[in-house]
Amino acid sequence: MTTTHSTTSASSAGPAMPLIFERSVPGSRATDLPPLDVPAGAIPAGLAAAEPPALPEVGQLDLVRHYSHLAARNFSVDANFYPLGSCTMKYNPKINEAAAAMPAFTGLHPLQDDADAQGALKVLHDTRLWLAEIAGLDEVSLQPCAGAHGEYAALKVIRAYFNDPQGGNQPQRRTVLAPETAHGTNPASCTMCGANVAKVPCVNGMVDLEALRGMVNNETAALMITNPNTAGLFDSTITEIARILHDAGALLYLDGANMNAIVGVSRPGDFGVDIMHYNTHKTFSTPHGCGGPGAGPIAVRKFLAPYLPVPQVERRGEPGKHSYFLDQDRPKSIGKVRSFHGQFGVLLRCWTYIAACGPEGLRNMSQHAVLNANYLAARLSGRFEMPYFDHRQGRFCAHEFVTVPRTLLARGVTLVDIAKRLIDYGIHPPTMHWPVHDCLMVEPTETEGKATLDRFIEVMNKIADEIEREPALLKEAPQEAPVGRLDEVAAARTPVLTAALRR
Ligand SMILES: *Cc1c(COP(=O)(O)O)cnc(C)c1O
Repeated sequence: MTTTHSTTSASSAGPAMPLIFERSVPGSRATDLPPLDVPAGAIPAGLAAAEPPALPEVGQLDLVRHYSHLAARNFSVDANFYPLGSCTMKYNPKINEAAAAMPAFTGLHPLQDDADAQGALKVLHDTRLWLAEIAGLDEVSLQPCAGAHGEYAALKVIRAYFNDPQGGNQPQRRTVLAPETAHGTNPASCTMCGANVAKVPCVNGMVDLEALRGMVNNETAALMITNPNTAGLFDSTITEIARILHDAGALLYLDGANMNAIVGVSRPGDFGVDIMHYNTHKTFSTPHGCGGPGAGPIAVRKFLAPYLPVPQVERRGEPGKHSYFLDQDRPKSIGKVRSFHGQFGVLLRCWTYIAACGPEGLRNMSQHAVLNANYLAARLSGRFEMPYFDHRQGRFCAHEFVTVPRTLLARGVTLVDIAKRLIDYGIHPPTMHWPVHDCLMVEPTETEGKATLDRFIEVMNKIADEIEREPALLKEAPQEAPVGRLDEVAAARTPVLTAALRR
């Protein structure tokens, strides 16, 4: 034990934890089921299993302990500071969970008649209108179920528009431009949609306007841009970028993963965006991590609305006597991109968060996200070099910042060493090596108070001291997590899933 600040779940990891299969005692049950009311012989003999499935048999208390132990070993935003850049790992207010657990919602069947599901449809309709208003755009589809899925659906919409003789009518526009700092999902979505991707160079983290001018032509469908961008900077030339695209007959697509910095402050539609996606699991506090769940609604200008996925939630009738319905009659739609209505449970949490915050609260959220990031960057910039940030020169960041700690790395430690050492101090490592090599990208989010930010600064400075005096400490980190330094490649290629964790 070398640290005094180990407050993580790691220190409560405790002794070896048996697998649930090892806890199994034949005949044990966690719940009593009602008597079987399926008549004998109802299942054709050929379809009935000869043996019961090989499930663990445990009592309720053993079951609760199993999951409680697992939960205690988890590194989570509810237990730990989680400054994972570009992921917006903010606190998920528990009111969201209360709303999503309401029996009136959980008991709905997705094929229920519209008349029986008016409340759920209203939630979707409100969410649609609110997200359109926040974007400064005209119509929203809630169907995509992740940011990357939103990109895919949006690129399909753009393709449908240019292929439509009554629409864009320029089917040759099949190239999508993306800055070299783009998130990996951007080029991946383009490839999945059959678009050619061309990389636009950046200067000082911003799009190189001259290069962009030289690249747009009558085969350009769109530029996909993230703003604030992946270097944590708001690209102030965005209206000029929009003009370059529009003058060439192409569209501007916004990757809205960084909306947390600008909600209620600036609207993509106002700075020239034609189509964008949200990541509700980032900006609007619906829980995420490890790949799901999520929602990636897309917002578009009016001329793109006919191509949005079906169905669309609509409202009819006079105010006071109105009702909600699912409009299937959209002949130019790209079709469905998801079963039923998207991730309803996630969208319901998004609705709850927006309703609870209100317009002032949402603006406050973004302002504090930006304030917190600038506070950290300003206080860390003495020892951790920041390529894009210098508050003394008026170069501020948005809701996250990038550090390339060259001086510290020159002492023979790696970014992984720093990241693993943070785990010993109970802090989730920031994003690494993205958007530039050898960087850490830190995003504190608005929900952290000053005491937590100060503790992070203290820990980062302590790690910098350790690198200068005792770098071997970092090579052995993490020492206080349930597992030490993993061979991640071997863990992925030859996972051992049947032996208990023995540390
Ligand atoms: C998170 C992220 C995405 C992908 O979003 P998912 O919801 O994880 O699919 C795309 N672009 C950027 C900039 C991101 O940070």
